[in-house]
Amino acid sequence: MVKPFVPQLVYVEPRALEYPLGKQLVDKFEGMGIEIRQTTSHNQIRNLPGENHFQKYRTAKSTLVVGLRKTLKFDTSKPSAEYAIPFATGCMGHCHYCYLQTTMGSKPYIRTYVNVEEIFDAAEGYMRERAPEPTRFEASCTSDIVGVDHLTHTLKRAIEYFGESEHGQLRFVTKFAHVDHLLDAKHNGHTRFRFSINDDYIIKYFEPGTSRLSERIEAAVKVAEAGYPLGFIVAPIYLHEGWKEGYHEMFEKLEAALPAFAKRDLTFEMIQHRFTKPAKRVIEQNYPMTKLELDESKRKWKWGRYGIGKYVYTNQEQEDIKDTLGSYINRFFPEAKLEYFT
Ligand code: SF4
Repeated sequence: MVKPFVPQLVYVEPRALEYPLGKQLVDKFEGMGIEIRQTTSHNQIRNLPGENHFQKYRTAKSTLVVGLRKTLKFDTSKPSAEYAIPFATGCMGHCHYCYLQTTMGSKPYIRTYVNVEEIFDAAEGYMRERAPEPTRFEASCTSDIVGVDHLTHTLKRAIEYFGESEHGQLRFVTKFAHVDHLLDAKHNGHTRFRFSINDDYIIKYFEPGTSRLSERIEAAVKVAEAGYPLGFIVAPIYLHEGWKEGYHEMFEKLEAALPAFAKRDLTFEMIQHRFTKPAKRVIEQNYPMTKLELDESKRKWKWGRYGIGKYVYTNQEQEDIKDTLGSYINRFFPEAKLEYFT
């Protein structure tokens, strides 16, 4: 069982101490005897301990930076929401195929932003522009926010903030089961709490440092019982020997565990495994022993954002995935909504 994240090293921007959360976090980490260093900017953490890239990467993944979010212009976040709301960047997990490997490049450390009220004010502006249409905010575009939230409670504040808002909705996804502090948040049904799930084989070999499937399912049951609208992202869907049985077992376990009322308002999102050439280089550098299949010749090339091509499964494999997983969802969760396959 993976324990809740505790940083081994903390950096703090001096201005973060002007905010109650910044002060509170520094007091907490001092009390825990964790080394705290000053940094002028959360974008410029240098001299991380470690003798080589491999060690420095691992140190970074257990380093937390307490800073301010300076850019309050939100990115768009299609297809699951209108905007990405930035409370944190980075993740302590070690998923080999993590999308952050390339987007964060040389800065794999975890950043938490303490100017939460300013982030809410910016969200308010976006909601006003679209009102009376609802505006959905995705809180896990640049991090697994649940993984760090037992320390910061920023997500909990956001859940309650959107719980009170008229037009705002919050969504996030996690591979962590440390949800207990979120169960009593006053969400008013405005937050969709999603878990990223995969079959046991994939979690075992490619998602070190995250909660196991049974733990995620257990947490999902608690979240459903707390009245949250619930969702699951099956991602990345990865073809391995026995994948049909693996995913069947995953859905079977999920169906057996979830209470009947939770199955009535469920969403599923399906994302196939993909990689880019730069991502492949980073994965091979950070996880040289990985069993992850990254053979371009077995994949279909597809134009991606920013002109960087990505390698996805062939058309036939994609059809097979859609048919197989789609039929499992229909069978086990006939009332659920399959939002998209990409
Ligand atoms: Fe990346 Fe999510 Fe794994 Fe964290 S849990 S390493 S964000 S894929």
